[in-house]
Amino acid sequence: IDWDEGTGWHNATLCPRGPIALDPAASVLHYAQEIFEGMKAYRLDDGSMALFRPDQNAQRFNDSARRLAMPEIPEELFIEAVRQVVTADADWFPQVEGGSLYIRPFMFANEPFLGVRPAKQYKFLVILSPAGNYFKSGAPAVSIWVSSDYTRAAPGGTGAAKCGGNYAASLVPQAEAIAKGHDQVVFLDAVERKWIEELGGMNLFFVFDDGSIITPPLSGTILPGITRNSLLTLARDEGLNIREERYSLDQWREDAGSGRLTETFACGTAAVVTPVGKVAGKDGEFTIGGGGPGQMTSKLRERLVSIQRGGAADRHGWVMRLG
Ligand code: PMP
Repeated sequence: IDWDEGTGWHNATLCPRGPIALDPAASVLHYAQEIFEGMKAYRLDDGSMALFRPDQNAQRFNDSARRLAMPEIPEELFIEAVRQVVTADADWFPQVEGGSLYIRPFMFANEPFLGVRPAKQYKFLVILSPAGNYFKSGAPAVSIWVSSDYTRAAPGGTGAAKCGGNYAASLVPQAEAIAKGHDQVVFLDAVERKWIEELGGMNLFFVFDDGSIITPPLSGTILPGITRNSLLTLARDEGLNIREERYSLDQWREDAGSGRLTETFACGTAAVVTPVGKVAGKDGEFTIGGGGPGQMTSKLRERLVSIQRGGAADRHGWVMRLG
């Protein structure tokens, strides 16, 4: 779907995936006006296809658009575009049990000009890719690396937006985490280099021995994850004591050592809920709980997955069936 200043959104087309032509002066190539979403379509236990909270992806997309001085897209148009691409060819849908479709809606500035100002022409596209069951049986614990040289987002920056530039900046610290033998990087805040923010592509939750849970607040420098929001809601439904609160690396290490902290887990669309077993950084490493998946992590993961798959009651109207 195209957008330009005079016409607004127009020219919606559904076509097989292939290369797209871009002018070498297209402003996205120079000033990085690009935003995207990551969402999934699931096959429900009864065989029908469904999206999970697509309204939330549309709203976050428009929040990102405003931050990058890009046009918003009406929520219905966003969801209809996703629906049409997903249902265009049901054969794409993975037949494996637990399979899903990963959906990538995105928008970029394609006006050809060399000058620093918001573009007057944009393109919105939706592509997708089959995704197998992320973890065959349950979720294995991951090991994470605390970046001390790099931060992901500064106050007033674009940390709360899902824009390509944020990920470009996280590639070096993520590669560093892998090179040191870990699965993901964890970022600290850019001001005090003290508070835990999030992983390269997931939000974090901390579970304590009294059953309480905390997750870093939406400070403007972390991505407001839709999985994070869903887990907050489910935990509150269960009557759990769950709070959005700052938590420091020092406290995390101390609490893991004393046993006050029993579990840590990460969450996001791709892997849903993943236990964190080990944390390493320049000051050494520590293990969380027994180093494997904890009870609360498994319980919340199970609750969310069964709603996404249509097995549990959808009390909040999160599952949107596609015909
Ligand atoms: N933080 C970052 C930086 C991410 O890229 C993602 C994945 N979109 C998340 C958190 C988790 O967000 P969600 O639950 O919406 O997938």
